[in-house]
Amino acid sequence: MTNRECFDRAKAVIPGGVNSPVRAFGAVGRTPRFLVKGEGDTVTDVEGRMYTDYVMSWGPLVLGHACKEVVRAVQDAASQGLTFGAPTVRETALCEEIAAAAPHMELVRLVNSGTEATMSAVRAARGFTGRDKIVKFAGNYHGHSDGLLVRAGSGCLTGAVPDSLGVPAAYAGQTLVAAYNDAESVRALFAEHKGEVACVIVEPVAANMGVVPPRDGFLQELRSLCDQEGALLIFDEVITGFRVAYGGAAARYGVRPDLAAYGKIVGGGMPLAAYGGRRDVMSCVAPAGGVYQAGTLSGNPVATAAGLATLRILRERREEIYPALEEKGAFLEEAFREAGVPVARVGSILTPFFAPAAPRSYEQACACDRAAFARYFSAMLDAGEYVAPSQFEAMFVSAVHTKEHLRQTAAAIGRAVCTARHDR
Ligand SMILES: *Cc1c(COP(=O)(O)O)cnc(C)c1O
Repeated sequence: MTNRECFDRAKAVIPGGVNSPVRAFGAVGRTPRFLVKGEGDTVTDVEGRMYTDYVMSWGPLVLGHACKEVVRAVQDAASQGLTFGAPTVRETALCEEIAAAAPHMELVRLVNSGTEATMSAVRAARGFTGRDKIVKFAGNYHGHSDGLLVRAGSGCLTGAVPDSLGVPAAYAGQTLVAAYNDAESVRALFAEHKGEVACVIVEPVAANMGVVPPRDGFLQELRSLCDQEGALLIFDEVITGFRVAYGGAAARYGVRPDLAAYGKIVGGGMPLAAYGGRRDVMSCVAPAGGVYQAGTLSGNPVATAAGLATLRILRERREEIYPALEEKGAFLEEAFREAGVPVARVGSILTPFFAPAAPRSYEQACACDRAAFARYFSAMLDAGEYVAPSQFEAMFVSAVHTKEHLRQTAAAIGRAVCTARHDR
């Protein structure tokens, strides 16, 4: 079967042919690759074509595809039973690993997706503070729960639907939208809604409108504004956790959130995520407290095995892995610079922007030349380089990307950027 045939078959039974919107390649006018295998830094599609992968499942695979230790842990766990709906010691061990890397995670609850993690953290913040309103930033993406799907990034931005249908206005009205990298906009919302805001939720490094690093002092200002207002600060570390540093963005920027959400890497490639933070706040979560949150498959034994194997490797080898990630990211950053494309990078996540400069705000990100990006994407794909099919996503570099592949990618970048510029 060809990719085209697979896609046609899928479209007959799945909305848009995919189970998550950006996979459809709609913004770049190509046919999605149906993948059959991942190994190290490569993926292979149904037509037998191999690509160097910079999507890496959108972040989880910091150790690459089919990492031996992780796969072995999953196989061992699976052979002992797929799910119990009863506690296992592995769940405790995984929460301990998260707390070891991020000391603000005093109590941790495991869930199944990043969407659930952020949604539940917001509920805990509301339960603890007794306030209803929340502040989020335009262009930040926190999954697809109702209250957070307001001026969202990622697929919403790619598909130009930053405000989803099906979200009741009364509910979306509880979400106040601030401007990323603009602490003044938060101060203004606090002033307008004095004593009503439960929390500020932020991607400490925005990575769903392309990578937009926090301005110097931005996260610190959010910390002190929240303290003054009695609101909680929630870091959405679903991408940045165990990625931009072993201790995530909180460690990299030295700011301690009250609550944080983790996903992607903490599941080691399986459906697992986590939220947690201050002991007094998290003590509000059932059965310890009155904020209800539950899950049949939460803390699933196979998923926790994958997460645990991944986090142990990251802890034991962090002094080697994180500098290597930094170096590989910097290598690709340089390739974009040489090609004359503005690029933003934090560690091993980076985005080339088809714009006069790398954006510092949502408005600037929205002004990128999407048609030029689409031409660049097509040229990369045809050269065997699998990058995200959207201007508003990150490139993910893993610990197993080889020097040889990185060099090939750098050469492909030079050619693809030329094509994007001249082929109109
Ligand atoms: C991916 C992502 C989410 C949502 O996680 P899912 O597992 O896709 O539900 C939330 N926040 C951020 C920052 C993300 O990148």
